[in-house]
Amino acid sequence: MRADIATSTVDGNAAAGMLWDVFGADVTALIGVCGGCGAAAPMAEAIVELDETAAIVRCRGCTHTLITVLRDEHGARVVIGALRELMRV
Ligand SMILES: [Zn+2]
Repeated sequence: MRADIATSTVDGNAAAGMLWDVFGADVTALIGVCGGCGAAAPMAEAIVELDETAAIVRCRGCTHTLITVLRDEHGARVVIGALRELMRV
């Protein structure tokens, strides 16, 4: 385990750039519905654990991982976790 990798816990706004790389749009204003606890909240309000290669987006209600955004030399991709719905309201 490398101790020199800094992981910071921030909110969904901090993942906006990485999400933009995948979706080509700002999804932080969308409402995400958690499949773990059913909470519906703007993606901007989710808990994000961020390091230089990944952003783990967690539900603020139950801490289930909603999505994981990965960025490497091939680009960016999203691994869907407990996210059940994304809604534009
Ligand atoms: Zn939840």
